[in-house]
Amino acid sequence: MSYVDEVLERVIAKNPAEPEFHQAVKEVLESLRPVIEANEDKYRKEALLERLTEPDRQFKFRVPWVDDKGQVQVNTGYRVQFNNSIGPYKGGLRLHPSVNLGIIKFLGFEQIFKNSLTGLPIGGGKGGSDFDPKGKSDREVMAFCQSFMTELCKYIGADTDVPAGDIGTGAREIGYMFGQYKKIRSVYEGVLTGKGLSYGGSLARTEATGYGLLYLTEEMLKCNGHEMKDKVVCISGSGNVAIYATQKAQQLGAKVVTVSDSTGWVYDPEGIDVALLKEVKEVKRARLTEYAAARPSAQYHEGRGVWSVKCDIALPCATQNELLLEDAKELVANGCIAVAEGANMPTTLEATEYLQQNKVLFAPGKAANAGGVATSALEMSQNSERLSWTFEEVDSKLKNIMVNIFHNLDDAAKRYGKEGDYVTGANIAGFEKVADAMIAQGVI
Ligand code: NDP
Repeated sequence: MSYVDEVLERVIAKNPAEPEFHQAVKEVLESLRPVIEANEDKYRKEALLERLTEPDRQFKFRVPWVDDKGQVQVNTGYRVQFNNSIGPYKGGLRLHPSVNLGIIKFLGFEQIFKNSLTGLPIGGGKGGSDFDPKGKSDREVMAFCQSFMTELCKYIGADTDVPAGDIGTGAREIGYMFGQYKKIRSVYEGVLTGKGLSYGGSLARTEATGYGLLYLTEEMLKCNGHEMKDKVVCISGSGNVAIYATQKAQQLGAKVVTVSDSTGWVYDPEGIDVALLKEVKEVKRARLTEYAAARPSAQYHEGRGVWSVKCDIALPCATQNELLLEDAKELVANGCIAVAEGANMPTTLEATEYLQQNKVLFAPGKAANAGGVATSALEMSQNSERLSWTFEEVDSKLKNIMVNIFHNLDDAAKRYGKEGDYVTGANIAGFEKVADAMIAQGVI
């Protein structure tokens, strides 16, 4: 049996009931086959893949807090420190009822390669909790965040592990967590990114993932003889990534006609009104029905359905496994030329294969949404320097990083005879640096 197959079997056997983690490992290792097979003896002797698929350590802890009625609630907190061979662990904190260890491990594993692709010195980690901030008062969110950080603060630090936002963790949650860290540890350091501008946050961090997604997509289109201007774009989600992806796509001359949330989706043939979307989602924290009610050109539909709309470019920006094989078939039938993942692993393996077989340009999340973590790393640099850069400085660094990421994965794919296969390219480019660093640092 090949080394890759052996390790895949072992990962499934050792981590039962973690299907998302299996999926992420399978996708990465399958596409690394050409690299692994070219160096099979060396990597096998080093047990490199076994080490890469086993987190350095993982924490699971109780998070008790008191709700507004005086009732004690208990959630579970997680932090998985996956790999720090090229820098301190770095990755977001997801607050969503679906969170479990397998989800955090899949995200942490993907983060290793994404962070490596940015070219910046950051390792891979991820964390979160099954707490749902939706429908909670600010006081309840603060109570949860303080309790969560009371435990998490033992394991993180500006040079050790630097968490950030993710689904359900925005500026409000980061603020409460940062405050609690500072109170308990008595140090003012850049231990979290995505902070508010008044206390060490970076300009352009809020916009970074969505903007970065568009910078990479634009470069991918350009290198394949297309441009963003006048393209029709379907976006899913209506959170941080989706909002700023919509904004940048429109700045680049495209028309975004859909957004969604977990209850329904909006089709707006006139183009999404970003100011209204921000008002509904960032200020009122309301459902998309409110967007549709305020916008005569918009149609609201219950359930899922974004990918049934005819478009040139599809940008899934909500959550994992939200673009299925049947959606991929519909996109291809409707003439879609490119899919770039704003979310983490939103496209299933079968859907990805179908899109690639049908010559749809496909940029995987670990490259396409790396702008968020890259700008987080820029926030870390500013905190270390005790300086703040202008929006334009950060945005131009972000753009350079995204363009470089695209060329790195394009080159890596070409080196292994897989031209145009950006999934393989991203995994190879991300892996090579981490593998070198792991081997150089010995068996640890
Ligand atoms: P937000 O919480 O701001 O928004 C998430 C959006 O996705 C919301 O519109 C939400 O709808 C929707 N959504 C969540 N779960 C589901 C579901 N099960 N079915 C349908 N829709 C769902 O998160 P972000 O925008 O920050 O993150 C979106 C994705 O991007 C995630 O995969 C995240 O890991 C990834 N990502 C985020 C980065 C960042 O910087 N924020 C960086 C890199 C990746 P509702 O409001 O109804 O829940």
